[in-house]
Amino acid sequence: MPSDPGPRRGLATLCIHGGEAMDAQGALHTPLYNHSTFGFPSTQALLDVVEGRTEGNLYTRYGLNPTLRAVERKLALIEGGEEALVFGSGMAAASALFLAQCASGDHLVCIGDVYGGTFELLARNLPKFGITTTFLVGDEIAQLGAALTARTRLVFFETPTNPNLEVIDIAAIAAVARAGGALTVVDNTFASPVNQSPLALGADLVMHSATKYLGGHSDLTGGVVIGAQPLVRTLVPWRKNLGQAMAPEVAFLLLRSLRTLTVRVRQQNENAQAVAEFLATHPRVRKVNYPGLASAPGHALAARQMRGFGGMMSFVYDGDAAATAAVIDRLRLIAIAPSLGGVETLATQPITTTHHDLEPAERQRRGIVDGLVRLSIGLEDARDLIADLAQALR
Ligand SMILES: *Cc1c(COP(=O)(O)O)cnc(C)c1O
Repeated sequence: MPSDPGPRRGLATLCIHGGEAMDAQGALHTPLYNHSTFGFPSTQALLDVVEGRTEGNLYTRYGLNPTLRAVERKLALIEGGEEALVFGSGMAAASALFLAQCASGDHLVCIGDVYGGTFELLARNLPKFGITTTFLVGDEIAQLGAALTARTRLVFFETPTNPNLEVIDIAAIAAVARAGGALTVVDNTFASPVNQSPLALGADLVMHSATKYLGGHSDLTGGVVIGAQPLVRTLVPWRKNLGQAMAPEVAFLLLRSLRTLTVRVRQQNENAQAVAEFLATHPRVRKVNYPGLASAPGHALAARQMRGFGGMMSFVYDGDAAATAAVIDRLRLIAIAPSLGGVETLATQPITTTHHDLEPAERQRRGIVDGLVRLSIGLEDARDLIADLAQALR
């Protein structure tokens, strides 16, 4: 069996066979090389790897480890990019990306709601190094062209957004960014590569928190950046010297998870559609944010740029913060937990978790209301999820 079945194979085939590296024992999949270092037949052979003349294994913190390289090849194939680099977390991937691409005096534009850690990194940590960010939300997104400066390196966003599931036009944003000389970076964590391919729509780089759909079982923490080789390679020294490479055990677990990515996400899409349709008819639910509902403002755009509408949604309960917390507390099957993308369905109230630290005015600007509940839909039977929500909303 070839280790690289080629880019023309379908996504499910790539998830299973793409990038795998067999060894002499005949194992069907890439073994776990937990080793920190690798031996050479001669000093010259070692130098050839150190100086990049030959590809080889050297030292795991450098990412030169066969299990890490296998999961990187698989992820590049799945996301449709040339090269992937894996990290110890999604935030490690984001921080290496920003530090590699931006120098002191450079500028970023961040569009729409983004993950809380990314917001903090951009708003609070990077200004210390002279790297500043303009944040555009809601109607301000139309002002992107005017927000770009001669020093704008990156335009960064997520779509669909967290927690209101707004859909942002990847091709349109990438065109404006390109005209302004900036690169477009999409955090594709919420959609997953099964539902959305930002690189094909004009984005330059894609990142993921592999902790979510890619891992899919709430049992690993990792991150990845994918794109054209010269761009992705700019992150290599940062990952190496900040010590951010993924651990081999995690890479092995991630390889295992990726083999079922398509079946998991397609079922999550189907379950989420059923749950969203149930919630949309419930008298105590004021609003459901799910791009798969024909009534959603982002539905037409999502139908154009996504292959599936995803497993994430939120809804607004007809009650105050305490009454909303009480609804969540009555859930029996659905767990109260942050994070997303796993096999189990999770519920959170964004004002208590992802958006807890925002000032009230900032919450209002971003439409994070007290009655908002976010759901990450898992792989349980949809009727059991609906029954649990029905009894909690009673
Ligand atoms: C969780 C998450 C991150 C951060 O990933 P970690 O693996 O927790 O570091 C970044 N972006 C999005 C959209 C996320 O959901």
